[in-house]
Amino acid sequence: MATVTLFDSMTREMREVTPLDGQCYRFYCCGPTVYGPAHIGNFRTFVVQDTFRRVLECAGLATKHVRNVTDVDDKTIRESQAAGQSLKAFTEHWKNKFSEDCGELNLLEPHVEPGAVDHIDHQIRMIESLVEKGHAYQTDDGSVYFRVGSFPGYGRLSRVADRELRLGAAQTANDSDEYEKDALADFALWKGRKPEDGDNYWPSPWGEGRPGWHLECSAMSLEYLGESFDMHSGGVDLMFPHHENEIAQSECCSGKTFANHWFHITHLLVDRGKMSKSLGNFYTLADLKEKGYTAAELRYVYLSGHYRHPLNFTLDSLQASRQAMNRLAKFAHALADRVEAEAPPSYESACRMKDAGPFQPAFESLCKDLNTPEALGKIFTAIKEIEVSALDEEVARQVYRQFHKVLAALGLNLPPREEEAADGAGIPAEIQALAEERWTARQNKDWAASDGLRDQLADAGWLVRDGKEGYTLTPKS
Ligand code: AMP
Ligand code: ZN
Repeated sequence: MATVTLFDSMTREMREVTPLDGQCYRFYCCGPTVYGPAHIGNFRTFVVQDTFRRVLECAGLATKHVRNVTDVDDKTIRESQAAGQSLKAFTEHWKNKFSEDCGELNLLEPHVEPGAVDHIDHQIRMIESLVEKGHAYQTDDGSVYFRVGSFPGYGRLSRVADRELRLGAAQTANDSDEYEKDALADFALWKGRKPEDGDNYWPSPWGEGRPGWHLECSAMSLEYLGESFDMHSGGVDLMFPHHENEIAQSECCSGKTFANHWFHITHLLVDRGKMSKSLGNFYTLADLKEKGYTAAELRYVYLSGHYRHPLNFTLDSLQASRQAMNRLAKFAHALADRVEAEAPPSYESACRMKDAGPFQPAFESLCKDLNTPEALGKIFTAIKEIEVSALDEEVARQVYRQFHKVLAALGLNLPPREEEAADGAGIPAEIQALAEERWTARQNKDWAASDGLRDQLADAGWLVRDGKEGYTLTPKS
């Protein structure tokens, strides 16, 4: 088995990734809150986690990947009411949309994808244990709080000092999510029923109410991975307070170390700043597809940055991804022709290749703190040196499979042959004419005409993508 190392945000050092039980690497990723479409920032985190899993599997490790779905909290309740739907119907709709997006981004399905609402009993059992052990207390409104002062290890992950803890807690003290409590930093394990919760409450030993958000991850990781497991992961924003709270709840219940390794992904920025709807730079996968880009191109953008650095997303970066992927695709197709391969090998069989041959240095970069940009660079270096037509057929067959091993580890699906012809070759004259007409309309800022022509092109099976200096046409897959 190849050695894999990864930075641990708890110890702040690089550590080897090895399963505690010597057999299967068990890891938990905090999943989406399903009240709307996930944005491209969320997907940076999920794609990085997926790539990490792929690298482990391609390095010869078995994995168990659990990613929850937050289907009850202030936002899901509020938005379901605004939509006039039951919480279940509403969250199911957004969960399905999320799964569709994950499929397009070529994310492997987690082995378990539990939802909070299906685990209310598990959460209640944990609260009972915490109350019994003196780590939690009930308030007059039927809520139960975790007493942060009862856990000396609080703040170890995020290095949050006492003073900051008080400040941070003070900032959230006015949140609608906050109820009566003894100390500002204490957080809700159970929230007593309030009129604005509508029908969304459950019975408990403390009266009707609903579980607090932090608790669901502690309860579901315990159920599916046990008291101690290999790794816990999420975006950096979750380090405090969410992950601190999870550690506190879980370790006070079990008396054991919660997760052996912590993996945090730095945020995606858009145009060098935070994504926001008011700035018009808040993108979902659907938004990018509407602009003519593909999910695979977005995945490539994510891979082009290291997960511990902020990644600045621009539409130009998608354009650059397209070119890079076309180069990779040309190489793959030349090899496929040389060996008369009909379809690329499956993920499982590509993963099983012992050695990635000329792509082994790229694979090794992935094994060292998941260095995806370095791996991509090494792939291009290797490709430059391989003259496909000069390869012996047997060697070509090997190289073809070795190339697919590194693609499998990255989760990159290359564009089919037709899309390589985006330079204009093979585009029917009438389609080209419509596109020219549309470009002229755009130059004249005649958006209605331009949109109408885009629709006509789409109906004829062509996607048009605009750049600063011109457009490209691609057949829809
Ligand atoms: P949420 O649905 O808000 O609970 O977030 C789901 C995941 O996306 C969490 O792991 C967050 O930390 C992560 N996340 C949120 N915003 C970003 C961003 N801009 N870049 C990367 N990850 C993010
Ligand atoms: Zn969580």
